[in-house]
Amino acid sequence: ERAVPLTAVTMRFDRLASHEFVRARLIPKAEAGMQSAGMAAAVSAALTLLLVSCIYSASLAFAVRRQYLAWQAAWSGTMLLWGTSWSQVHLALLPGMAGTVSAQMGPSLACLAIAMARASAVTAVDRGAAPKWLRSTALVLGLGVGLAGIPLALIRSGSLGLLAEILGLVVIADLIVVAAYLGWAWRRGSVEARDFLGAWGLPMAVLAFIHIVDIEDGFWGGGSKLLVLCAATWQALWLAAAATRRLAHLRIERDHARTAEAQAQQLARRDPLTGLPNRRGFVESVTPLLERARADNLPAALLLVDIDRFKSINDIYGHDAGDVVLCGIARRIERWEGPMCTVSRLGGEEFGLLTIGMEGIILNRFAESIRRGIAACDHSETVGERLVTASVGVAEVRPACDFQQLYRLADAALYDAKRGGRNKVVVQRYEDVTEPRREVAIS
Ligand code: GH3
Ligand code: MG
Ligand code: MG
Repeated sequence: ERAVPLTAVTMRFDRLASHEFVRARLIPKAEAGMQSAGMAAAVSAALTLLLVSCIYSASLAFAVRRQYLAWQAAWSGTMLLWGTSWSQVHLALLPGMAGTVSAQMGPSLACLAIAMARASAVTAVDRGAAPKWLRSTALVLGLGVGLAGIPLALIRSGSLGLLAEILGLVVIADLIVVAAYLGWAWRRGSVEARDFLGAWGLPMAVLAFIHIVDIEDGFWGGGSKLLVLCAATWQALWLAAAATRRLAHLRIERDHARTAEAQAQQLARRDPLTGLPNRRGFVESVTPLLERARADNLPAALLLVDIDRFKSINDIYGHDAGDVVLCGIARRIERWEGPMCTVSRLGGEEFGLLTIGMEGIILNRFAESIRRGIAACDHSETVGERLVTASVGVAEVRPACDFQQLYRLADAALYDAKRGGRNKVVVQRYEDVTEPRREVAIS
């Protein structure tokens, strides 16, 4: 703000590697205030968001153990350092870094960030989603850019301009390869590739744009660097949102899988034909009952119900008719299920009922009512006038023993009932399963 127009400014820089890297802007004082406020706001917002995204990605990587999230966190962290050094925020804490160190740190960090972003994009996509050569090329180019940062940090003089030109070309080639890689994987249905393309679209366009168009004077004087920082923040936010969405999907899928597993577990315990618990379900539900009966010194009894001459029903009326008869009997047996009695289809045409607390004459009557109940079932629609009966073998024990032992005892009683002419109940009582049995054939 001068009365006389400014015509020339002379500046002197000592020990400068190349004057091509020096940029000086002359702006009116009022505008300078506006510009520095705008810059400060944009830079601090971008750096804060990068920090948040870095912490978020790192926690996600730790929680779900995914490699690409760790690379993503490393990329956000590097971009954060780059943004801090370029905007010179770090000088507030480390003033000694002013000058060459800071100036050379910037390009090295930028190269490192590109390498990390590449590693993140490549490892996020399944190996089979794109050709191996494309994946390797993307990784090698990314690694090349990352390594190029080392000489940039060390060279103090010489052909910096040439190196910068070559690096610019490698970065563009790398962008094209990674875009092709992600596009390929997306076409093959990779959700990760789609998310990355969405996140990368803007930063890629920005990188390509600043290589072609000179915008160093724009954006409150932040120029290409501020544009890159904002694009990186956009990318970090997009990737964090995509990772969260994918995680939510994973949670929904996990819940579905748990429900399906619970259903499968239930089905594995049920007989598909009759809907009664099968042997597995029965053993699982009666084992704790038997243990409690033993602890409380309650009597336990297993009643094995086997349909008489069932094979001949199949042979005469067909297997389907046999199934209908089995289901009819299962429906009848189901009605005895209750607090004292657990029922099941143990296999074939054999059903099992376990009772706790029932003994002596009551148990005899119960077994007899089962035999009669089954004989009274109406199967006339399937087998006409033929009578379908069952034999019942009962083992009553006190104290209760385990299921296997109880089953063996009940099976022996059933064998006796069959041998005794079928359509019979045989009850065997054991005061102690190691003692000889007392046999009672009741009908
Ligand atoms: P017993 O009086 O000695 O018990 O004679 P049985 O014919 O009932 O006994 P056996 O063990 O010889 O035959 C059982 C038959 O049960 C043989 C098998 O084909 C039939 N079976 C087993 N499971 C099923 C099934 O799910 N559906 C049908 N329809 N038949 C079955
Ligand atoms: Mg039978
Ligand atoms: Mg049988």
